[in-house]
Amino acid sequence: MASLKESFSKGLTAINVKTNSFMEESKCKTYISTLEKEIQTLKMNIGEIVYGKTITGESYEDAVMEIVHEITGKYEEIEQQKKAIEQLAAEQKQILGTAQSVESVKVCPKCGAQSAGIYKFCSKCGSPLG
Ligand SMILES: [Zn+2]
Repeated sequence: MASLKESFSKGLTAINVKTNSFMEESKCKTYISTLEKEIQTLKMNIGEIVYGKTITGESYEDAVMEIVHEITGKYEEIEQQKKAIEQLAAEQKQILGTAQSVESVKVCPKCGAQSAGIYKFCSKCGSPLG
């Protein structure tokens, strides 16, 4: 009963890890698409400023540079989000890999010795493992 409860909680952990990282990942992706939309808007603003100020004969360089810096900052943020997603995937792989190797341990019904999941017979007493 204890082992069932244990494996049940381990199963839940694996599901939680998957769900959590999926949610984190979609949060990052939503943020990236928001940033991309903002970049598009800022680029349109540059066009408006250049157009408007060219017509009136004003200098637009300072205003454009300000927006360019803002866009660069948003591109950097996108890169950070992408790195976070990569790290999330790596962490998930690590955690699930560990959970899997823990789950694949078989306990001998006769002597209670633990064997790796790939073995069909107990490494201690030779009893068949379930
Ligand atoms: Zn055994």
